[in-house]
Amino acid sequence: MPSFLSRRAFLSGAAAVPLLTALPRIAPAAPLNAPFSVGAFTVLPILDGPFGLTREIVPEADSIEGERLVELAGLPKEGPWPVPVNVFAIRRGPRTYVVDAGGGSTMGADLGNAAERLAAVGVDLTKVDAVLMTHLHPDHAGGLFDDKHQAVFPNAELVVQQEEVAFWSDDGSMSRMPSSMEPLFQIARTALGAYQGKVRLVTGMAEAVPGITFIPLPGHTPGHAGLLLSDGNAQFLLFADTIQSALLQFPYPGWTTSFDVDPSLALASRRGILDRLAADGIPVTGSHISERGRIVTRGMGYAMVE
Ligand SMILES: [Zn+2]
Repeated sequence: MPSFLSRRAFLSGAAAVPLLTALPRIAPAAPLNAPFSVGAFTVLPILDGPFGLTREIVPEADSIEGERLVELAGLPKEGPWPVPVNVFAIRRGPRTYVVDAGGGSTMGADLGNAAERLAAVGVDLTKVDAVLMTHLHPDHAGGLFDDKHQAVFPNAELVVQQEEVAFWSDDGSMSRMPSSMEPLFQIARTALGAYQGKVRLVTGMAEAVPGITFIPLPGHTPGHAGLLLSDGNAQFLLFADTIQSALLQFPYPGWTTSFDVDPSLALASRRGILDRLAADGIPVTGSHISERGRIVTRGMGYAMVE
């Protein structure tokens, strides 16, 4: 095709979509596709696999605003809207830590690549010192154990919030949740069972390992927490499932997902941490975000920028 034709087609196409010009320009955040440093820490993002969000999972996206965002992103109206499931290996000196473990074999064929991909970047699974858990949902805890329910990180300590373990271990809380959630309880219990004797429970803003501190962000699950890496002046926050859809929840932070155990508490945690990050400029990424960057306020919501 002669180039002027494609250029003309492009121009007329652009003119037909006035919404594009109405949107503020967003300086792109850095893609989460390579190791990066936080002081003496090296963080290796590992993609466990893609997960497809749908309108059933984000009910408020079934709206004019939701349709507009999904359309501008070139995604199908009803979903799936893919988000990554991330695992992080963190190294400092001789120590290796892993944050969350991906879905293992509990979440279908798209997930469960973390163990192989960790090994591929040189992480010896038998030499991981500690696995730090943001929470015990299957896309984070399913990869802790193999098909025989044995620990994938056989010599690691499993560090997790006491409240999180209490919730998933309690038959009372299981009976109060919809029965469709029962498999989630079983997966969390299998994961904890695989690390029997090596589970270290912490409460609140506890230091998980030297330089890495839990930041409680309850609501998504009762013990849901981020992890703040600090070394000298360098800081970086892994805020876990605070945002499960960057596309929808940065502009509309009030939108919750069906995975939130306590949606109003999850919303309060989300607003609270995003406001704090926007004020103090600490860089961040999450378990379901493809970029890392800083949070800025934008309109009624937020954006992530370089
Ligand atoms: Zn998740």
